[in-house]
Amino acid sequence: ESFLNKSYSFENFVEGDCNRLARAASYAVAQKPSTTSFNPLMIYGGVGLGKTHLVQAIGNYIESQSETPKFVLYVSSEKFTSQFINSIRENSLQDFMAFYMQVDVLILDDVQFLSGKEKTQETFFHIFNHLHQSGKQIVMTSDRSPRELSGMEDRLLSRFKWGLTTDIQAPDLETRIAIIQNKVEEEMAEMDDEVVEYLAHCIDSNVRELEGVVISLIADSSLTKRKIDLDMAKFRVKSIVEESQKVISIDKIIEEVTSFFEIKIADIKGKTRLREVVLPRQVAMYLAKEMTSLSLKAIGYHFGGRDHSTVIHAIQTINDLIGVDKELAANVKALKTKFKY
Ligand code: ADP
Ligand code: MG
Repeated sequence: ESFLNKSYSFENFVEGDCNRLARAASYAVAQKPSTTSFNPLMIYGGVGLGKTHLVQAIGNYIESQSETPKFVLYVSSEKFTSQFINSIRENSLQDFMAFYMQVDVLILDDVQFLSGKEKTQETFFHIFNHLHQSGKQIVMTSDRSPRELSGMEDRLLSRFKWGLTTDIQAPDLETRIAIIQNKVEEEMAEMDDEVVEYLAHCIDSNVRELEGVVISLIADSSLTKRKIDLDMAKFRVKSIVEESQKVISIDKIIEEVTSFFEIKIADIKGKTRLREVVLPRQVAMYLAKEMTSLSLKAIGYHFGGRDHSTVIHAIQTINDLIGVDKELAANVKALKTKFKY
């Protein structure tokens, strides 16, 4: 079993400037796995921009088009890690390695998940080397560029450079319009141009979210037996925005930030001024201001009763740092996406 989802193909992937290179490289790999210089192929970009879609399309293409049968395997890095841990618990590491070493095309999704997991990385490194030396294709995705992947072993990162690394950007307006139109057609529904344009303007940074709104509108329309109109669309967009604001609590932000930076909640709320704690604390305050409707005073309260001027200072500091520190900017961005779903 390949664990591929058949609904992801090149045909239903809308091409735009934002993804042209990633799509072209994926298509080249799909047509001639292991024979291009794109090995490994690494696609990186923000959440919901089509990384999984593209790499699954590669797998599906190879499975259905290749002359000799190929063992294609799609696996998320999360699943890879838990399989690895289980194999240690059950004393079956050899079987685990042997299984992965017989794959012809290995698709490992969201490798950023391996950050900080030394033993899992080491094992992947061995599998990677074996596959690469045996002329097998490796495809990976990540939510950030290899340069911004902290907690990854250098020798693994240097392997990524052997092939091609390419990014996917958020789609421009025309691409978003085309994606909506495709989805509407796929669902055999109808949507006026003004509604399509309205949606494309409102939801601009995440294709998954865009698709979600289109699907709910189609469902609304078939339930109420009403044509999708601008009011319905406005209502949907508004409720989605409200929903995403409602679920983001400051406790959740503190929880995510502390686990991301591997520090204690007690420390982030406490008095320590160690740099390892101060920066995450400032990031958490910054996110609280951005993602909740809490006042500065209320935010300070949640961080051990700090003053609102401390919160202002934290927000300014992070704002300044984001402009110059790429890794921090990527981390803050990655943290933000955690609160959207
Ligand atoms: P990622 O893995 O980057 O988080 P996904 O591949 O899961 O994102 O994409 C999210 C959703 O958006 C999927 O349903 C996918 O089919 C759709 N999607 C993303 N980009 C495109 C595109 N260019 N054309 C068509 N559908 C797309
Ligand atoms: Mg994905």
